[in-house]
Amino acid sequence: MDNTTIEKVQCLIIGSGPAGYTAAIYAARAGLKPVLYQGLQPGGQLMITNDVENFPGYPDGIMGPTMMDDFQKQAARFGTDIRFGLATSVDFSNSARKVIIDDTHTIEAETIIISTGASAKWLGLPSEKRLNGFGVSACAVCDGFFYRGLDVAIIGAGDTACEEATYLAKICNKVYMLIRKDQMRASVIMQEKVKNTPNIEILWNSETEEILGEHAVEAVRVKNVKTGELKDIAIKGFFVAIGHQPNSDIFKPYLEMDDSGYIITEKGSTRTNVEGVFACGDVQDNIYRQAVTAAGTGCMAALDAERYLVSKGL
Ligand code: NDP
Repeated sequence: MDNTTIEKVQCLIIGSGPAGYTAAIYAARAGLKPVLYQGLQPGGQLMITNDVENFPGYPDGIMGPTMMDDFQKQAARFGTDIRFGLATSVDFSNSARKVIIDDTHTIEAETIIISTGASAKWLGLPSEKRLNGFGVSACAVCDGFFYRGLDVAIIGAGDTACEEATYLAKICNKVYMLIRKDQMRASVIMQEKVKNTPNIEILWNSETEEILGEHAVEAVRVKNVKTGELKDIAIKGFFVAIGHQPNSDIFKPYLEMDDSGYIITEKGSTRTNVEGVFACGDVQDNIYRQAVTAAGTGCMAALDAERYLVSKGL
């Protein structure tokens, strides 16, 4: 297809996490002939997760990538047209529903389901950027292996940080957990796991001043926010686990969002403020952010899209 051709589809799904694939399964079974673009990280955040133990139906747990492979196969089985490609811009002006893929290919869709998820947040330090990939990582499960037997630090105090700290503790010699307050946000069970792991040392009231090292991480400079004391801790790996931001930038000119960029949907539905455009999964959920809730809203989005088409006689 050349870049002057506009492809018309009934249902376009943008994103391939649990929300996108669930929407695809329902839309395909309803005969909407969905086209799904996988985006930058096919399979979404679960591709960088280890064991998933809280998705119902897997009594022994399942690896994140295996589960996403199953999601994809199930969506394909019912005829979803699954494609590589990234939605790079959209035009929702004057009732249009146009999406540009990879800056070249234009799709006009009767319904659009946005399931673009969320991405890891960074501290924003120049040294963090400079050493990214050279000891700095936002994914312990992807990169922890490179630091086996070594000392590492992880920043964050939510469930992700706790989960990743315990994961790293199994591989690494020592894990320093840097927490900016005197308490954690993580669930009690996750906190207990961390506190009961002997090679995790929690440093409370600790902020990262700088990550040190010329070509690779050698240490982290930590500031105690109560005393102002600075301390350099020798490490080889620095893991950032401070939350996520929704992948919603391209929709900003058209869709209502909250201050953090999460797409606002009508209560009890996946409808956005643009007719025929629906949002599901983490891009519209800053509260639950679970695979199972994402899948649930993916199902809702496909049902909402189907009902919209029926209401329009399409
Ligand atoms: P959260 O938003 O819950 O936590 C982010 C953490 O990062 C907070 O402790 C926050 O500190 C800290 N933080 C943010 N910015 C900075 C900064 N600049 N410097 C230092 N620390 C910072 O994100 P998570 O990714 O941990 O979790 C997201 C959601 O996913 C949650 O609902 C969580 O429950 C869920 N989840 C569930 C899991 C499970 O059930 N197995 C596993 C992983 C996640 P502060 O507290 O000071 O604001």
